[in-house]
Amino acid sequence: MNPAACFVQEIFSSVQGEGPCVGCRQIFLRFAGCNLKCAYCDTPVDPSPSCRCELTPGKKDFALLANPLTPVQAAGAVAKLNPKIHQSLSLTGGEPLLHAEFLLELIPLLPEFRRGIYLETNGSLPRELSRIIHLVDLVAMDIKLPGTAGLPPLWEKHRDFLAVARQKQVFVKIVVDEKTGPEEFDRAVGLVREAGEIPLVIQPVTRTNGKPGIGPERLLFFQERALGFLSDVRVIPQVHKLLGVA
Ligand code: SF4
Repeated sequence: MNPAACFVQEIFSSVQGEGPCVGCRQIFLRFAGCNLKCAYCDTPVDPSPSCRCELTPGKKDFALLANPLTPVQAAGAVAKLNPKIHQSLSLTGGEPLLHAEFLLELIPLLPEFRRGIYLETNGSLPRELSRIIHLVDLVAMDIKLPGTAGLPPLWEKHRDFLAVARQKQVFVKIVVDEKTGPEEFDRAVGLVREAGEIPLVIQPVTRTNGKPGIGPERLLFFQERALGFLSDVRVIPQVHKLLGVA
């Protein structure tokens, strides 16, 4: 077996539902497994015996490929989805950086995308990012608020991660809900400010009923707070959930 082979959940075409590229058409390659366990996680991260690979962009006509997939198999599944009509390839999860070895082999095999490779990451694995940063074009990075995500603090890891991510285009996303406190929010904004001119997206948690898990006044309060230190701060909900797409 190829030592770089890994468990991939699905490969499919859809629209990006979060952050500044919201609405752009992407091919998504979703990895199994995550090194964190956020309280609000809505993504199945346990490895599946097979990977669902869409055959026609947007048609949900999935074929199953047995896991683990080799980089060649994954690149072949991506190539079938008409990369030319897509803005970029989104590496998502789970946490894609748990599979740095696989990515080092996979990315050079991929067809060209208009805007290249888009990495969605929890921002906690700086060493792994430094191994593949030369192959990535845009980094969509989370800063996890301990009280909101139900995690131990990751401030130092996020700081180191941002220092590496700065080599490429990057934006930071902070998920907030009604439990989010100003102190942890300010600390995250401080990290973004330290790293330079980086867009910040404040994303309300989406409840299981599809509604935001925080009121509009509180969202505007956090945006105003961040705008005291940063020039580009946007409030963007998870649009793919409104559209009913993956
Ligand atoms: S980092 Fe993302 S995939 Fe991992 S547990 Fe948190 S929300 Fe889920």
